[in-house]
Amino acid sequence: MTVAERPIRVLVAEDEESFVDALAIGLRREGFIVDIAMDGPSALAAFEDIEPDLILLDIMLPRMSGLDVCRSIRLKSNVPIIMVTAKSTEIDTVVGLEVGADDYVSKPYRLRELVARMRAVLRRRAIDAPANQIDDKVLKVDGVVLDDARHNVTVDGASIQLPLKEFELLAVLLSSAGRVVTRETLIDRVWGSDYVGDTKTLDVHIKRLRKRIDADPLAPSKITTIRGVGYRFETNG
Ligand code: CA
Repeated sequence: MTVAERPIRVLVAEDEESFVDALAIGLRREGFIVDIAMDGPSALAAFEDIEPDLILLDIMLPRMSGLDVCRSIRLKSNVPIIMVTAKSTEIDTVVGLEVGADDYVSKPYRLRELVARMRAVLRRRAIDAPANQIDDKVLKVDGVVLDDARHNVTVDGASIQLPLKEFELLAVLLSSAGRVVTRETLIDRVWGSDYVGDTKTLDVHIKRLRKRIDADPLAPSKITTIRGVGYRFETNG
């Protein structure tokens, strides 16, 4: 994987089963990784868990409306959100309430149109991406600096050598510093479909990575294990 070419992860929040299946197949065919949530609370939980690159958010969702989901996500994230509306009156609602969505599409829509809008939103977002995103060339968290273009890592100013997979693991962890990155996300972003072997492969690489970046072996590791969930790169450590 090169950092720039990693697949885009889309969370589809939609409760119409027949519709969502066809949509997921279409999006996967376009090269997206697709996760599905079928009601509002599940959409919020999935957002926290998988940290998608983009969310397709139906307005009429059971238990919590797409509008409320959108507002809630916006309190903590700028992740691109495309609202999906069933009626033109809903479009007025999205626009009028300024819930913070990046764009909207109305059902029925063509997959091609949807994908074009998704790519447009992602492009816009990449252009004005804030620091600390994986697409940036340099990631800095406390004493650890990762320069993607030069494939170079320094810890407290000292250069260290990292094999490719450990370098990519560190890039993903740094880009979400302070937040838990799930095992699935790490495996998906670093190995993708190349991942072979049992789930220990990830832990072995984390162990090696720790040895190289934890300058003081007696201090707590910069990378914390969240048992059964994943790993977190600690800030201010
Ligand atoms: Ca719906």
